[in-house]
Amino acid sequence: MSNQVGFTSTVPVEVILGAGLEPVDLNNIFINSENPGKYIELSEMHGFPRNICAWIKGLYTIAEDKGIKRIICIGEGDCASAVSMCEILSSRGTNIIPFSYPTTRNKDKLNRELNLFAQELGTTLEMAEEIRKRLKPVRDKLKQLDKLTWKERKVRGAENHLWLVSSSDFNGNPNTFNKELSEFLSEAESRKSMKFKRLAYIGVPPILNDLYTFLNSLGGDVVYNETQRQFAMPFSTDNLIDQYLEYSYPYGITYRLERDIIPELKRRDIEGVIHYVQSFCHRQVEDILIREAIDLPILTLEADKPGKLDNRTRIRLEAFMEML
Ligand code: SF4
Repeated sequence: MSNQVGFTSTVPVEVILGAGLEPVDLNNIFINSENPGKYIELSEMHGFPRNICAWIKGLYTIAEDKGIKRIICIGEGDCASAVSMCEILSSRGTNIIPFSYPTTRNKDKLNRELNLFAQELGTTLEMAEEIRKRLKPVRDKLKQLDKLTWKERKVRGAENHLWLVSSSDFNGNPNTFNKELSEFLSEAESRKSMKFKRLAYIGVPPILNDLYTFLNSLGGDVVYNETQRQFAMPFSTDNLIDQYLEYSYPYGITYRLERDIIPELKRRDIEGVIHYVQSFCHRQVEDILIREAIDLPILTLEADKPGKLDNRTRIRLEAFMEML
């Protein structure tokens, strides 16, 4: 079997690396592929309905296409559609490895889950701890990149998004990722500060490829990418369990708002918030609690397929930026 282990959302990558395996975030290889739309069409030909989230359809066919035969399925803390998709992959011969984030955010339960996960992959939590220590300098550099985005205004929102979202699997190789990140930071630090309206992006990462550049053309830029920053785990924790307890994404929108979103909106002096929702995603209802909790202008933006912003969305973004 190949060395690659696929996953549908951020999982404890330290355990995968500790087992000597190569982590592959299926979201990243799908959306960065030459023609992501092709994977959606293919999955519909395999019987996936039109009204299922496009990420799920893309993940299914990219896994098949790339021959990734070992995939981690997140039972709790991610997405019910992903669980069903994993079941189909399993029936087609893929080895599905279970992992769950306890909904109660309970330390003992998470400890148990991490141990089981390590056993499934043929490693130990001690080994994963070693990897956590080795990854710390990389995560510190990602923190620095984030600071260069919101505080020093030298890194664009699109660059911030790409580096942070890629940290879920370190593009399969943390050493190369570290080297390329160091080079990027040296170049970015020598830049002049930019002036834009300060925006926040909250919600699942966008399936669109021109959102950030379009915002720049309207005089705005994202200085807080909520979920992507969480993937990078910029926390000061002393062990793996605390790190994955601090990681807010699996533990519900109320926790995300209290623990991360609201303090970061204040710290970064945000002027307007874009809440991105994916068509046919159950997380769309989170918009209700987001709007109740945040006292700033919010634009809820929905998209379905990969590609460019449609005209209606462009007009809504223009009106939002004008209003700000
Ligand atoms: S966007 Fe929503 S439905 Fe789609 S994969 Fe992510 S959590 Fe699941």
